[in-house]
Amino acid sequence: MTTATLYRTPRPGPCISFELYPPRTPRGEETIGRTIGALADLAPDYFSITYGASGSTRATSRELICRVRDETRITPLAHLTCVGASAEDLDGYVATLLQAGVRDFLALRGDAPAGEPDWRPHPEGLTRASELVALLRQTARDHLGEEGDAVSISVATYPGGAYDAQGRPRIEDDDVAALLEKQAAGADFAITQLFYDAGHYAELVRAARAAGVRIPIVPGLIPLTDPRRLRRMVELTGVPVPPALLEELDSAPDKEEAYRRGLAASVRLVHEVLETGAPGIHFYTFNSSRAVLDLLRESGLRPT
Ligand code: FAD
Repeated sequence: MTTATLYRTPRPGPCISFELYPPRTPRGEETIGRTIGALADLAPDYFSITYGASGSTRATSRELICRVRDETRITPLAHLTCVGASAEDLDGYVATLLQAGVRDFLALRGDAPAGEPDWRPHPEGLTRASELVALLRQTARDHLGEEGDAVSISVATYPGGAYDAQGRPRIEDDDVAALLEKQAAGADFAITQLFYDAGHYAELVRAARAAGVRIPIVPGLIPLTDPRRLRRMVELTGVPVPPALLEELDSAPDKEEAYRRGLAASVRLVHEVLETGAPGIHFYTFNSSRAVLDLLRESGLRPT
């Protein structure tokens, strides 16, 4: 079953999925096998595998995709970005993934490399994720014929973290317009950027539906157990962490208590998001299993 079908098929509980990235250090190399094994024991619906900025991890992303497929038999979903590559190059890379049996993709624009003021987009490249969705649809058709139409293509979407003057979660019109364009290009579902307030997710879904978006919108969450990581994520994503949450974690007498408080906050967020009717939850795992295992157990999504 592809990931697109997954969200269309009625089932007793929410879909659960995990993001992994290719290890960047020898220690990461050593531990990734155990992490995959521990997370696979939770029987997720799929693992998504990130793709480094400008395709920098192309080889290691592909290795991890094949490893997940071979060691766990759980569906791997391949992230892919446009930035830094020609359309022809992307077509060739997608073809190698299709040959390796990959049928699930997350189509992203990617970001220009940081700290490179002279950087220019590839002259024969793509500039938007919607163009990559269209390329994926075409490449899948070219290589698999009619079977290519069953390939699943997901995209990113952004609940943001801003509030309006009345304190209500605010969603950017451009983000909804981008999602609509990606749906029109053939996207099957969307996964959100991390967020900390279920109200932002609910408001994104409301605004998207009002604009004509029909595809499932899957919330993406991080465990809220590590204040250092939360601060780092602000730098990487621009999504502000609620000051009250940081204060709660920072005021804990030790790391374990901070972890317990963060876990309790995560469990609340999981429940609030599911209460809005979310079709599942995609967890950003940071290649670590402990917090996700604890979170799924504590929130009742997986047995002890
Ligand atoms: P697009 O959808 O192309 O949007 C880019 C910009 O154009 C946005 O600001 C949007 O508002 C604007 N825009 C697009 N279409 C329209 C329109 N019709 N009207 C008005 N404005 C429009 N990055 C990586 O490098 N590797 C990864 O593996 C990776 N995985 C990710 C996974 C998830 C779930 C998410 C949420 C992000 C991930 N990213 C990854 C980051 C992503 O590449 C960046 O957020 C990037 O800046 C935007 O990508 P996009 O696909 O959303 O771009």
